[in-house]
Amino acid sequence: MLIGAHESIAGGLEKAYAAAREDGCEALQIFTKNSNQWREPALSDAQVAAFRAARAASTFASTPVLSHDSYLINLCAADEEILRRSRESLLQEATRCERLGVELVVLHPGAHLGAGVEHGVRAAADALAWVLEETSGASVSLLVENTAGQGSAIGVKFEEIGAIVRMAAGAVSPANRSRIGVCLDTCHAFAAGYDLSCEPGFAHAWQELQREIGLASLRAMHLNDSKKPLGSRVDRHERLGLGELGPWVFWKLVNDPALDHVVGVLETPPVEKDRCYAGQLAWLKAMRGAVAPERPTAVAPQPAAPGPAKRSRKKSD
Ligand SMILES: [Zn+2]
Ligand SMILES: [Zn+2]
Repeated sequence: MLIGAHESIAGGLEKAYAAAREDGCEALQIFTKNSNQWREPALSDAQVAAFRAARAASTFASTPVLSHDSYLINLCAADEEILRRSRESLLQEATRCERLGVELVVLHPGAHLGAGVEHGVRAAADALAWVLEETSGASVSLLVENTAGQGSAIGVKFEEIGAIVRMAAGAVSPANRSRIGVCLDTCHAFAAGYDLSCEPGFAHAWQELQREIGLASLRAMHLNDSKKPLGSRVDRHERLGLGELGPWVFWKLVNDPALDHVVGVLETPPVEKDRCYAGQLAWLKAMRGAVAPERPTAVAPQPAAPGPAKRSRKKSD
C-alpha cells in the first residue's frame, strides 16, 4: 500500500504537493474546495495548469490522487432541495476532479434522517449512478466511504456499502461500472463495531469485507486511529497507534500484499496546528517488513515530528 496524507490546499491547490513532499507522502488526498460550504468554485485554466504542472514535477505523476467531497452533501436527503444540491455538488466535484486529473473522489453516502437504511441505500446508489452517467467518458472514479454510524448515517455495515456499489453498478453503462469503488476508513469501521485492532477481529471483518464488497473494489483507505471505543458509533480520529485501535492494524495493512493496489491516507488531527504527518508516516514506513507490534504497546509509538513548524494547515477530517 502506498501511504500518505490529506494535505492542505491553503494558498492554492498545487501547494498540496509541496506539503506532501515535506511529509514524505507516497499518496495524497485533498479538498478541491471549502468542504464546509456549498459554494462551487469555478477553476480557471491557470489554476488547472498550475495543479497539473506541480503534479508532473512531483512523485505523484503515476500515483492516483484522491479528493474528499464536501461534508454538506447528503445523497439520501429526504428534503428535495438538499438532495438536488447534494447531487449537483457531487457532480461538480467529479467534474472539477476530471479537469484537474484527480482520479478518485471519496464520498460519504449520507444520512437517511428517519427514512430508513433501505431508502438511504437506494437514494445514494441512484445519486452515484446519475453522476457517473452525467460524466460518461470521464476517467474519475467515485469511492463510497464507510461511516462510523453517527446519527442516521448509512454505509455503516459493509453490506450497506456493497449494496450501494452493486445497485449503482447495475444502473450505469458497462463503461461506467469500473468507475465505482470503495474507500475504507479504519476509524469509522472500528467505531461501527468492526474490531480491527487484533488478529481474530480483523480476520472476521476482512471475511465480511471480501464477501460484501470484494478486495478489487477497495481502491483507497483512510488510515486513522480512533479516540472512541469499539462500536461507539462516534467518529473521532486519533493519531496512529495512540487510540483505541492501536498499532497492530496499521502494521497488518502495510504488510498485506493483497492491498498493494490500494492508496492509504492519514486524516489524523493536528496538535497545535501540527498534523505530525511526517512522524506518523515515518512510523508507518518503519513497520514495513518489521515484526508485528505487541498490543498494548509499552511506549506510545509516536515519534516527535520535527517537520516545518511554521506551515499553517487547515482543519480537515
Ligand atoms: Zn475518512
Ligand atoms: Zn471520520
